[in-house]
Amino acid sequence: MAKEQCLVLIKPDGLVKSLTGDIISKLSETELKIMGAKIVQVTKELAEEHYQQLKNEKFFDELIRYIMGEYHTKRVMALVYEGENAIEKVRRIAGATNPEQADPISIRGKYGRITTSGVFENVVHASDSPASAEREIKLWFRPDEIVHTIYPTEEKEIKTPKLIWK
Ligand code: UDP
Ligand code: MG
Repeated sequence: MAKEQCLVLIKPDGLVKSLTGDIISKLSETELKIMGAKIVQVTKELAEEHYQQLKNEKFFDELIRYIMGEYHTKRVMALVYEGENAIEKVRRIAGATNPEQADPISIRGKYGRITTSGVFENVVHASDSPASAEREIKLWFRPDEIVHTIYPTEEKEIKTPKLIWK
């Protein structure tokens, strides 16, 4: 089995409930390696791009508000995990999408809930295939934010103003 990557997002409910430590500890059972990590304030564009495959679902607008942090805190923690069978290992510990159907000792089973409007506040996101992991990692991380360049890169001269320390 070849090396695989998996994007993990600790969603705003995970951050507001101070679950980041618990979640990362639980994921360490996989013995996968963390190759990138950061806190992100999610824009509407990023949220919609991330969940593009669900844009026709009736819960889409609520899902976008949820991942943007409208109900909790405007922070998401994004992590890149790497290792053999990363996707299956992470998704097993994350648990089923519906927190009420998830294994009670999985992350979603332990900490997830269904809101009165029906959205699954399930604390974490995990990529579901190598192709979606690649798409999602490229969406959330720049090449220099990951310890090694997983995917092919190119150098490009880009002149845009950058925020620096004063
Ligand atoms: N979701 C929801 N209701 C549903 C299905 C999905 O609220 O009936 C939300 C839930 O937060 C889920 C996200 O949409 O994590 C993405 O759905 P997907 O089917 O990709 O599930 P996942 O891959 O996260 O298990
Ligand atoms: Mg998914």
